[in-house]
Amino acid sequence: MNFNGKTALITGAGRGIGKTIAVKLAKFGSDIALADMNPINDDVLKEIEENGTKCLSYKLDVTNVDAVDSVVKKIIDETGGIHILVNNAGITQDNLFMRMKPEQWLQVIDVNLNGVFHVTKSVIRTMVKQHSGRIINISSVVGFSGNPGQVNYSSTKSGLIGFTKSLSREVGTRGITVNAVAPGFINTAMTQALNESQQQAILSQIPLGRMGEVDDIANAVAFLASEEASYITGTVLHVNGGMY
Ligand code: NDP
Repeated sequence: MNFNGKTALITGAGRGIGKTIAVKLAKFGSDIALADMNPINDDVLKEIEENGTKCLSYKLDVTNVDAVDSVVKKIIDETGGIHILVNNAGITQDNLFMRMKPEQWLQVIDVNLNGVFHVTKSVIRTMVKQHSGRIINISSVVGFSGNPGQVNYSSTKSGLIGFTKSLSREVGTRGITVNAVAPGFINTAMTQALNESQQQAILSQIPLGRMGEVDDIANAVAFLASEEASYITGTVLHVNGGMY
């Protein structure tokens, strides 16, 4: 895979899956624009720049429409375009439905679904002008299986599939592909927050017998972003060790 001459924007790229996706795309030659709620750690920038590619970083809340438009404009001014968009930023606010507060529902919808709308809306114009682009949305296995305590989160992750499939039908003739990656349970801060018995219960459902690693997801994203995946659109790549 070769991403020389391309620029990739990855949201929620400060740590976890997003950071690993950014490093992976840089290894294959892409210039990188990182966006995250908090300023990106210098170590992350260094790790990306070691690949000899350009690395821009922005403090960005994906729910803030004006800030999104301003960051996207800056990236395009600086690099000439955005060729790959990875909508990775996501949060959880778990609670059983009977106890779920309206703000827990609204905050998760705002980041995981509205954020994807704002960033994609802002980037798509430049992709249409380029007659090429790759949009990859990070969904989740729980968007398909459901999960107690995650009515809010799983609704957003299912919602992303409708978003992916519908948008892929609108922009296919413009040379833009839109796909989703649905990770299973991956070793990150998000899953380390689960207690020992929750982790064991999850492991018992995974035929491959282990949690996924961030690289497992980054490899799938890199493939969907590549030229090699140019005839794949509107689909979901499940990376979950066979659990669903
Ligand atoms: P992390 O919580 O480790 O990282 C998420 C990143 O998103 C953080 O850097 C966070 O910033 C950032 N972020 C949160 N809210 C916003 C916002 N409003 N604007 C911009 N950035 C924001 O999560 P993971 O790496 O584990 O998950 C990444 C994606 O993968 C998410 O969409 C998640 O739902 C999905 N996923 C993860 C799975 C897992 O097992 N880990 C399984 C299935 C899907 P900060 O830390 O500064 O708040």
